[in-house]
Amino acid sequence: MKLATIGVGNAGSKLVDRMVEFESETNRNLCRHVHAINTARTDLAKPEYIPEEQRVLVGDTNQKSKGHGVGGDVEIGAEVMSGDIDELRRAFDDIEIHNVDAILVAAGLGGGTGSGGGPVVIDALQEMYDEPVYALGVLPGEYEGGRPALNAARSLQSFVNKTDNFIGFDNDAWRARDQTIEEGYEEMNRELAARIVTLLAAGETDDSEVAENAMDSSDIIRTLNTDGVSSIGYAATAVDAGPEGLLDRWGGSGKDEDPLDDASQATKIKALVRRATNSRLTLPCEVSSAERVLVVLSGPPGEFSRKGIESARQWLEQEAQTVEVLVGDDPRERSSQLAAAVLLSNVSDAPRIDAIQNQAVDAQEQIAQQRAEREDKINDLITDENDDLDPVV
Ligand code: GDP
Repeated sequence: MKLATIGVGNAGSKLVDRMVEFESETNRNLCRHVHAINTARTDLAKPEYIPEEQRVLVGDTNQKSKGHGVGGDVEIGAEVMSGDIDELRRAFDDIEIHNVDAILVAAGLGGGTGSGGGPVVIDALQEMYDEPVYALGVLPGEYEGGRPALNAARSLQSFVNKTDNFIGFDNDAWRARDQTIEEGYEEMNRELAARIVTLLAAGETDDSEVAENAMDSSDIIRTLNTDGVSSIGYAATAVDAGPEGLLDRWGGSGKDEDPLDDASQATKIKALVRRATNSRLTLPCEVSSAERVLVVLSGPPGEFSRKGIESARQWLEQEAQTVEVLVGDDPRERSSQLAAAVLLSNVSDAPRIDAIQNQAVDAQEQIAQQRAEREDKINDLITDENDDLDPVV
C-alpha cells in the first residue's frame, strides 16, 4: 500500500525516520509522503531521512512552549497543537491524496507532544481526507513511572476512538536489561520499522505476473478496518542463495516443480508463519482475541508455496479462532530473506494495557493527593498561627 506517514513528537518522528530508512534499504516504496511535527526544536533536528522541509515546528510563539517542548504535559501538548492548527492544515494540504491509500500517525503515548498533540493531528487529518487514518502508538514502560502511564492511558482512548486502527508497541516487552535506554530505543525502532514496513508495503511491486497470490492494499485496508487495537508478529529466515535456491526461484510455481521440493517449501512457509505468530508481538496479546488476521509473506517469489500458504492459513484459523484470515505474498525478487509479518487486528486481550491503566489510576490519585497536601502546606506557610491577619486585597 501507499502511505502518508506523519510522526508527532520525538518518538513518533524517530519511528517514521526508521521506516523511511528501512524501506530505502530494502527497495520498498511505502511512505509516499512524510512529515515530522514537534514542539521541540532540538528534537526536530534529529531525523536523518525526513527532509528538512517536511519538518514542522509548532508552538514556537506559544508562551508555554516557545519551541522548547511541552515537558511531558499532555494538556499543553494538545493546546499547543490546536493553537497552530492552521499551519498544520497548510502542511497537510501538500499530501497528494490520490497518491496514497491511507495515513499513518506515529507517536509515543507517554510524553506530551505525541500523546496530547497526536489526537489533534488525527482530527485535522480525518476532517481533511476520507482515507483511513491509522495510528502507530508506543506504550511507555512500567519503569518510566506513573506520569507516562497516566498520559498513555488517557491518550490511548483518544487515539483508538479517533483512528481506524491503532497498532500498538509495548516498550516494556521490548526492553533489554543490558542496554542504555537510548540504545534500547534505537533497536526497538528498527525492529518496529521492519515489522510495519514489511506488513504495509505489500502490494507495491511491479512483479505482478509472478504474484499469483499477491497481497493487495485493499486486503490490508479491509483487515485494518476494524477499529480497535492491533499487534504485529514477525519472523524471517535467510534464503538459500546456492544453485538450488536460485533454481527454485526461477522455477517459480510452474508445472515442472519438484514435488519433494514443494513439500519442503510448504513446511518452511507454515513453520515461518507459526514462528511469526508465536514471536514477541509488538504489543503482547492473546492471539485468539483477534477479530481478523492478515499475513504478508515477503521474499523471492520462488520461495512461495501455494500449499504452504494454504496450510499456514488453516493453522492460523484454528489458532486465532477466526475465519477472517488472509495470507498473501509480496514478491521481492532481490531479497535475501523470506519474512512473515502477521497482523492481529482488533485484539481484545492485551494485558499490558490493563497494567498501564492500573498504574495510571494510582498515579492520578497520588497526584491529586500530593496537590492537596501541597496547597495545605502553602496555606500554613503564608497565614499566621491564629489566622488573625487578612490579605491586603
Ligand atoms: P514527546 O516528544 O513529548 O511526544 O515525547 P517523547 O516522544 O520523547 O516520549 C514519549 C514516550 O515515547 C516516552 O515516554 C517513551 O515511552 C517513548 N519513547 C521516546 N523515545 C522513544 C524511542 O525512540 N523509541 C521508543 N520505542 N519509544 C520511545
